[in-house]
Amino acid sequence: MRWKEQLLDLTPYQPGKSIEETKREFGLEKIVKLASNENPYGCSKKVLSALRENPPKPELYPDGYATVLRETLSSAMNVQPGQLIFGNGSDELIQIISRALLHPGANTVMAAPTFPQYRHNAVLEGAEIREIPLVNGEHDLEGMLDAIDERTNVVWLCTPNNPTGTYIKNNELEAFLEKVPKDTLVVIDEAYAEYVVAEDYHDTVDLANRYGNLILLRTFSKIYGLASLRIGYGVAHPSIISNLEPAREPFNTSSFAQLAAKTAVDDKEFLNECKKQNREGLNSFYRFCDEHCLEYYPSQANFILINFKRDGDEVFKYLLSRGYIVRSGKALGFPTCVRVTVGSKEQNEGLQSLILDYLQSGVLK
Ligand SMILES: *Cc1c(COP(=O)(O)O)cnc(C)c1O
Repeated sequence: MRWKEQLLDLTPYQPGKSIEETKREFGLEKIVKLASNENPYGCSKKVLSALRENPPKPELYPDGYATVLRETLSSAMNVQPGQLIFGNGSDELIQIISRALLHPGANTVMAAPTFPQYRHNAVLEGAEIREIPLVNGEHDLEGMLDAIDERTNVVWLCTPNNPTGTYIKNNELEAFLEKVPKDTLVVIDEAYAEYVVAEDYHDTVDLANRYGNLILLRTFSKIYGLASLRIGYGVAHPSIISNLEPAREPFNTSSFAQLAAKTAVDDKEFLNECKKQNREGLNSFYRFCDEHCLEYYPSQANFILINFKRDGDEVFKYLLSRGYIVRSGKALGFPTCVRVTVGSKEQNEGLQSLILDYLQSGVLK
């Protein structure tokens, strides 16, 4: 078989340990999963009732244009319907963008470490990858500008960045956008935007309206709690959307996902409550880390990257064997760190007391 050469170097995505797998392996009853930045409060109750009371027909193809969701979102955000594109998760939008713009002969600029799917898709398309190291956990925008040339087709920004939780300030972002060539597409992945409390975070719609070489990606997987249904969206100038649309599969988002997402957009109260609880949880992690001299990056997302200054896999294994699944920083580019999703109050307290046991016992294995 004559596989694409670049495919041979890639490994499939390694998901975090599943709850069932962990239960069996360690003979545990209760498992707390704080590994994939899922919403500890689930999704809006209104979503569950809508799916129960008015379920779509599984035998029918979904509406490929996602008309109802599109209208709901366009009026909620105050953008034109033609400024939106929907994906099977924002992961698929990353794939669509890569498919539409990257090829051997083009290059793409991104931070490192950041969300791995930008790199993964760029490798598949055979593009040259230019990774610019984070500085103090933040995007080095100057360094990224220096890396852009006439063959740079896509620049990726992740804000808040996964796995650091750090964000790009609006004035710095705009200064950057002013300097990027008009024929280079800038992708701003805002998977955690709904959790942001920083006042100098950018305004998504304002930027989408002002820059013709920009797309902002959002997802229903994180604060909306719909990760299993696979749906995300992009907001951009209509000309960007119309160029991307042919690279999208016609029925990429299911009727169930569209209905759930539409209903979720209408439940602002659920969102506000999750945002508030998340901030309280983050504050409790800040206090805990300060008290026990653990370094961390201040986060605008629903996770926190904590530096234990020892092998992240060891911390991960200790917590795993006691029923808490977190993410070792090893695979995320921070080998001495652990990334923890902010859970419910009870879950956060449980994890913190376990970390304390770990620190006090001085256990290394
Ligand atoms: C979780 C995540 C995504 C993927 O979200 P899906 O919509 O579930 O595909 C995209 N970008 C970042 C930075 C994420 O953390």
